[in-house]
Amino acid sequence: GKYSSKEIISLEHKYGAHNYHPLPVVISRGKGIHVWDPEGNKYMDFLSAYSAVNQGHSHPKIIGALIEQAQKLALSSRAFYNSEFSPYAKFITEYFGHEMVLPMNTGAEAVETAIKLSRKWGYMKKGIKPDQAIILACTENFHGRTISIISMSNDETATVNFGPFVPNVGAVCPKTGKKINHSVVKDLEAALEAHGDRVAAFLIEPIQGEAGINVPEDGYLKKCYDLCKKHNVLFIADEIQTGLCRTGKMLAIDHDGVKPDILILGKALSGGAYPVSAVLSSKDIMLCIQPGEHGSTYGGNPLGCAVAVAALKVLKEENMAENVFSFILSALIRGKGLLNAVVIDEDKVGKTAWQICLLMKHYGLLAKPTHQNIIRLAPPLCITEEQLMDGVNIIKRVLEEI
Ligand code: PLP
Repeated sequence: GKYSSKEIISLEHKYGAHNYHPLPVVISRGKGIHVWDPEGNKYMDFLSAYSAVNQGHSHPKIIGALIEQAQKLALSSRAFYNSEFSPYAKFITEYFGHEMVLPMNTGAEAVETAIKLSRKWGYMKKGIKPDQAIILACTENFHGRTISIISMSNDETATVNFGPFVPNVGAVCPKTGKKINHSVVKDLEAALEAHGDRVAAFLIEPIQGEAGINVPEDGYLKKCYDLCKKHNVLFIADEIQTGLCRTGKMLAIDHDGVKPDILILGKALSGGAYPVSAVLSSKDIMLCIQPGEHGSTYGGNPLGCAVAVAALKVLKEENMAENVFSFILSALIRGKGLLNAVVIDEDKVGKTAWQICLLMKHYGLLAKPTHQNIIRLAPPLCITEEQLMDGVNIIKRVLEEI
C-alpha cells in the first residue's frame, strides 16, 4: 500500500465526514477470521463488519461468484429482465420458505421497504383508513439511519437535530403514549388493545444488536407473534444482524419457531462482498406493491444476485449454524450463539470499554463498543473452537489485567 496506518487515519480525519468514530486500526486485508493492517500486523476480527462477514473475509466461493459475474454483466436495471435475478428469487424464497422477494441493497433500504409494504397492506387488505396506519417497534431499536427509521428510535444520538420525524411509527403507542419495551409482552399487548385496528405492523429485532445484544426470554417472540395474529397485524422480523446463522440457527427467530409475515435480511446475505438486502413475504402481502410504486436502480442487480446465491450456499455447505458454539464465558457475557457482548462496569474497573478495546487490539483482537460500555463479540462463523479459545483467552487476559 501507499500509506501507513497513521497516514490513513489522518487522511480520513481530514477528508472523510466524521460520522463514525473508528478504533485506531486500519484494515487492508482479510482472510477468514483474520485481518491485517498495512504494516502487516494480524488481528482476529471479533466484529465481522457488524455481522456482514459471517462466512469469513474473502470467502473464495463468494469472491469467485463476484468475479465471474462481474465479467459477464454487473447491472441491467430492472427496466429489463436480467438472467440472475429470477434464479436468485427462486433460490432465496425456497431457502427461507417465503413466496416472494423484493430485492434492495442496504439494510436501511430493506427496512424502509418493509414499512412501505406493510402500510400498503394495511390500507389495501386490512382496511385501515387513509393515512392512519401505525407501525409499532420496540424501545432501543436500531433499524438503520434514514429519516423514517430514526423516527422510530429513542436514541438521542440518532435523533437530536434530525427532526421533524415521520408520525405514527416507533416504540411509543400513539394513543396511550406508553412505551413498548423490547422483551415485555404486556407492553405490546396494551398498544394492540388500544388500537390494533390502526396497526399495520410490528417491527422487531429478535435480538437487539446495536442496543447491546439484548436477548429476550425464550418464547417472547412467539407471544408477540400470537398477539399480532390476534389483531391482524403483520409481524416483521429484522434479521439483518441476527440472521444467517449468527445465533446458531439460520434465523434468530427460529429459536422460537416463528415464521414472520415479513422477513428482512441484509449484511451477511452477501458475505460482505457487495451490498445486498432483501424483503421476503407471501404473495398476498407482496403483491400489494404494484409496478412503478417502489424500486431501486441497483436492487436485484446481477452481481448482487450471484453473490447472494453463493453466500447463502456457503452457510449451508459449511454448516455454519452448527459451527456456532456458544461461548458464554461468565456472568459478564450475554448473548446467543456467536452474537455476544461483555458489559463493562466502567466505574468499577476504572477503564472505559473503549480503553479495553484498545488493549484487546494490542493483544491482536478487534472488537468495538456499542452504546458506550458494551463490547460486542461477533467473530466470523468459520471460526474454529481453538481460534475461539485463543480469542476468549485474549479477552480474559485483558479483563484480568485491568
Ligand atoms: N437493522 C439492523 C438490525 C441492523 O443491525 C442494521 C445495521 O447495523 C440495519 C438494520 C441497517 O443496515 P444498513 O447499515 O445496511 O443500512
